[in-house]
Amino acid sequence: MKFYSTNNTSHQVSFKEAVFNSMPQDRGLYMPVSIPRLDDKFLNNLDSFTLPEIAFYVAKNLLGDDIPDNDLKAIITDAINFFAPVVGLEESVYVLELWHGPSLAFKDFGARFMSRVMSYFLKEGEKQLDVLVATSGDTGGAVALGFLGVPNTRVTILYPKGKVSGIQELQLTTNGQNIRAIEVDGTFDDCQALVKQAFTDPELNKKFRLTSANSINIARLIPQTFYYFNAYAQLLKQGKNKVVFSVPSGNFGNIGAGILAWKMGLPVEQFIAATNANDTVPEFLRTGVYQAKPSVQTISNAMDVGNPSNWVRIADMFKADPVELTKKVVGFSYTDEETLQAIEKIYSSYNYVVCPHTAIAWQALKDWQQNQPTGKAAGVFLSTAHPCKFPDVLPDHVSKAIVIPEEVKRLEGKTKHAASLGIDFEDFKKYLLENN
Ligand SMILES: *Cc1c(COP(=O)(O)O)cnc(C)c1O
Repeated sequence: MKFYSTNNTSHQVSFKEAVFNSMPQDRGLYMPVSIPRLDDKFLNNLDSFTLPEIAFYVAKNLLGDDIPDNDLKAIITDAINFFAPVVGLEESVYVLELWHGPSLAFKDFGARFMSRVMSYFLKEGEKQLDVLVATSGDTGGAVALGFLGVPNTRVTILYPKGKVSGIQELQLTTNGQNIRAIEVDGTFDDCQALVKQAFTDPELNKKFRLTSANSINIARLIPQTFYYFNAYAQLLKQGKNKVVFSVPSGNFGNIGAGILAWKMGLPVEQFIAATNANDTVPEFLRTGVYQAKPSVQTISNAMDVGNPSNWVRIADMFKADPVELTKKVVGFSYTDEETLQAIEKIYSSYNYVVCPHTAIAWQALKDWQQNQPTGKAAGVFLSTAHPCKFPDVLPDHVSKAIVIPEEVKRLEGKTKHAASLGIDFEDFKKYLLENN
């Protein structure tokens, strides 16, 4: 499969190039030149396949012969080695738990697949790949744990001091091996600026083979389609064949992957884009005007994005029929206060604890269902992170009910290792050059 830039469809590159470049020079995003429909035999019998089997079939459908079957199978079995269960909470309300991977967030799907694809494409004798990543929390953990021990790669993570949760910080700073962390005395935007400047610095680029691991990489998007198919497979087993997905959205990669799955033939009735106060997309869906805004800080901070970078991909998938977009995707946005109320309500109704991002998706699903004839489609809201990653945000009595996973308990005994830097680029550069 070739990939084009959303800014120039005649600029086409191989999968390998799209993965290593992350972004075309023209600042568009890579998209497959065609989105082949899966065959009906597969789609109608999804419930007879396991998650890794589905993943292989879907990836193969999109990538063609870019990676030989056996290698692709090996990448998938190694990357997707955890479950994504659909759990019923009430009639027509299901949660898709995407946090059973090592960093306890859905970003594990993307980061683990991408790391293994990159490592696969690194030929014998090629220069070590240096991944630079700025994180406000979840991305860094998924990338660190995704690349941990992957040969011929090294990851440097920059995170804002004091602005990530305790567990997130431990996930970033206790890995050792090929992962190192830098605590920056500044904001996430400062971290991001340092990374961006490094990519344009001639001296650093001469010395290192730098790459970013951010959410716009096509190798992060593709594996996120897998769990939509797998969720549908689980519903089929329960005799349900109509589904609606409600997705807590920030950069719109997750919901973008859902739409890609739908384009490949997954029968989805409706997508619900659920956001916090950063409501650029819900506003667009309501008014038809896309107006990027500066991001505002909320308690669901992994979704604090005022200009979602993956939106251009979604627009691209509907470019033949932009009106269909506003039908297929509806938007809802919520304040922090509403988010907290949703967390309380979910806990009191189902004795189930969710993270603030997940709570927003639940609320959006419930609000959407209000205006729908009942009992028709199974409503599935995506749970993007385990609540233990955000304990300080939850009301005390809810927070106390969190069951802490074993791997988190193990983390708590480990020692943090992080270099400390300010926001000065020259200091960061010096650190990179001296710690090689
Ligand atoms: C990254 C993240 C999101 C937002 O996902 P996008 O793909 O950026 O829309 C939502 N919830 C959690 C917990 C996240 O880490």
